[in-house]
Amino acid sequence: MSIFPCEDHGRRVPGALESLRLTVLDGEDRYSRRMRLCPEHLEERVAILAEAVPSLADGQYEDREVLCPSCQQPLNRAAASCAVFLYVNRRHAETDERYARFCLRCGSTLVHNWALQIQQLKD
Ligand SMILES: [Zn+2]
Ligand SMILES: [Zn+2]
Repeated sequence: MSIFPCEDHGRRVPGALESLRLTVLDGEDRYSRRMRLCPEHLEERVAILAEAVPSLADGQYEDREVLCPSCQQPLNRAAASCAVFLYVNRRHAETDERYARFCLRCGSTLVHNWALQIQQLKD
C-alpha cells in the first residue's frame, strides 16, 4: 500500500502514488502546490490542464504565443501574463515538464481552483 493517501479520493492505494507540482509565477509572487495522487486521479488532474499547458517534450510551446491558452484573450505584454509550470511525475517515467503563459486573470483562477499556496522567496 502507498504510505500516503491520494489527495483526491483520500485513501491509500496498492502500489505507490504518483505526483504533480503546479506552480504559477506572477511577477514576484510564486504560488505552488505538490499533490500526491493515485494514477487515475493524476491523469484526471493532468487532463484538465493538458491542452492549455503543453508538454515541453512535445515541442508545441512557442515563446511568441500571443493568446492566453486558457481564455484565448490576447496577452499584451509579458508583464501582463504569468508563467504556469506543471511537472508530472509518473512511476517509471521521466518527469513530464509542461509550461504555458496565462493572462493574469486565468493565472489567479488557477491559483484559486487548485488551492496553490504562496511561497516565501528566500532572502
Ligand atoms: Zn485517487
Ligand atoms: Zn486567460
